[in-house]
Amino acid sequence: MSSKIRVTIWNEFRHEKHMPEVQALYPDGMHATIASYLAKDAEIEVTLAALDDPEQGLPDEVLNNTDVLLWWGHCAHHEVRDDIVAKIQQRVYQGKMGLVVLHSGHHSKVFRSVVGTTGNLSWGREQKEIVWCVNPAHPIAAGIPDHFCLELEELYAEPFAVQPDELVFTAWFEDGYIMRNGMVFNRGYGKVFYFQPGHESCPSYHNEYVERIINNGVHYVKPNAFGFDIPEGAPCVHPHKVTDEFAK
Ligand code: ZN
Repeated sequence: MSSKIRVTIWNEFRHEKHMPEVQALYPDGMHATIASYLAKDAEIEVTLAALDDPEQGLPDEVLNNTDVLLWWGHCAHHEVRDDIVAKIQQRVYQGKMGLVVLHSGHHSKVFRSVVGTTGNLSWGREQKEIVWCVNPAHPIAAGIPDHFCLELEELYAEPFAVQPDELVFTAWFEDGYIMRNGMVFNRGYGKVFYFQPGHESCPSYHNEYVERIINNGVHYVKPNAFGFDIPEGAPCVHPHKVTDEFAK
């Protein structure tokens, strides 16, 4: 691991090309907007990747040099190659890469495969959302007030088919629904952070608290740099070695 956190922001990057209202909000793509915020963090270096790039933006050279992968996908989940999903899953499980999954990424192959869930939840019309911090002592909540308002977001609602290891934020929506919307999963030796705001036709990635939470999430899920590789596989322990060492 280099001294900086090497972040790759992967975006399906289709809505921005075909929907004028999305293009108006994110002319260079949602990933570029998130990148411009993260780039202000001297500890982070950012790479952009998109589905229509060669190798779907994630050749081995990129994956193997990514400490934290951000994932935004929606209408083309099915196009993402299974072999790439498998590599991401293994890299997270081996503690070599952290994963941040945004908004509709809850139904991506990557989220479902790494977390081990259908990713199913309920959804509805765009409306006002209030994000409530339910664990102000959590590192991902650093610099975030007890609540903040997003004037327009897509309704995502419970039941969300996950049982997180750490819950940081919960959302209230104008129509009365709630959703656990900022949470951490420990999988293998790796960490996954899921955060719900970020519908393509809503301006949430221009909100300072949303950006700060994503930035905090990157720092929280980044792999530890111990200077050695965690052993892989399930090695058989040699009985004589154990006996010799423990007999002393
Ligand atoms: Zn959406």
